[in-house]
Amino acid sequence: MHIVVCVKQVPDTMEVRIDPKTNTLVRAGVPSIINPYDIHAVEEAMRLKEKFGASVTAITMGPPQAEEVLRKAISFGVDKAILLSDRAFAGSDTLATSYVLAQAIRKLSEEQPVDLVLCGKQAIDGDTAQVGPGIATRLNIPQLTYVMKIDYLDLEKREIQVQRKLEGEREIVKATLPALLTVTKDINELRYASFPNLLRAARYRPLLWNKESLLLEEGRLGIKGSPTAVRRIFAPPEREGGEIIPGGMDNPEKAAAELVDKLITTKIIADR
Ligand SMILES: Cc1cc2nc3c(=O)[nH]c(=O)nc-3n(C[C@H](O)[C@H](O)[C@H](O)COP(=O)(O)OP(=O)(O)OC[C@H]3O[C@@H](n4cnc5c(N)ncnc54)[C@H](O)[C@@H]3O)c2cc1C
Repeated sequence: MHIVVCVKQVPDTMEVRIDPKTNTLVRAGVPSIINPYDIHAVEEAMRLKEKFGASVTAITMGPPQAEEVLRKAISFGVDKAILLSDRAFAGSDTLATSYVLAQAIRKLSEEQPVDLVLCGKQAIDGDTAQVGPGIATRLNIPQLTYVMKIDYLDLEKREIQVQRKLEGEREIVKATLPALLTVTKDINELRYASFPNLLRAARYRPLLWNKESLLLEEGRLGIKGSPTAVRRIFAPPEREGGEIIPGGMDNPEKAAAELVDKLITTKIIADR
């Protein structure tokens, strides 16, 4: 089995601030991390590898420093990592990003057919959750999004069944292989990287694929191939603290009556 995991380098959003004057992200001094959902995709690939035997390839599209997230994937036990990097890829939106990633997966399939593509459910910076479905559409394979559990994978029948995390319920879906999954954090618990894998990761140099390495149409890359434009980024106004009606535990009727009075005076509900 050949599994490809797509990983993205993102700014650590715990530390991202928005400049109130320019309305742009202040990235200076902000550390970069692997997208938190993607590391669960890597972990799931490793669990499948342990169960069925597989070769696992991690890919990322980004600037040269994005190779850091590939080393993180290697530290989890991934076999091979490829950095897709070229000036022509800069400024790509989800359309152009998923195009390049899909072409890279096509190329990998020529070396060894790809059975499963794993992505995070979304990136914590762009947040669109479009790249996974974009790749699946281009590769013309089934897409199973928001996957919280793989029920089974049958390599002989070429079939997979998963549980999708929906609001308040789970949806059980079956698909044929090859398929693309986007995963939530519920899918597994992360394990610590082993010492030999950490050593391997420290020394590992990912393969570099640029636009010449892939079969790509120039007009579908980077800013030229990206119809999306971010017009403005702004921090939502800070919320004022809520009001707590005291005494609810001792006298719930009185507290409820007070709440109803407040809702009527603030015209949230109508008076009888
Ligand atoms: C601050 C900011 C400004 C931006 N401005 C513009 C702009 O002006 N014009 C424009 O066209 N676009 C802009 N973008 C979009 C940017 O290019 C997207 O971040 C990118 O296309 C991926 O989309 P996403 O982050 O929503 O990923 P999602 O679709 O949320 O990611 C889902 C999953 O896909 C995979 N994935 C996503 N990206 C990659 C990758 N690069 N390599 C490997 N796997 C990946 C990961 O598994 C990830 O978990 C901007 C983004 C940000 C954060």
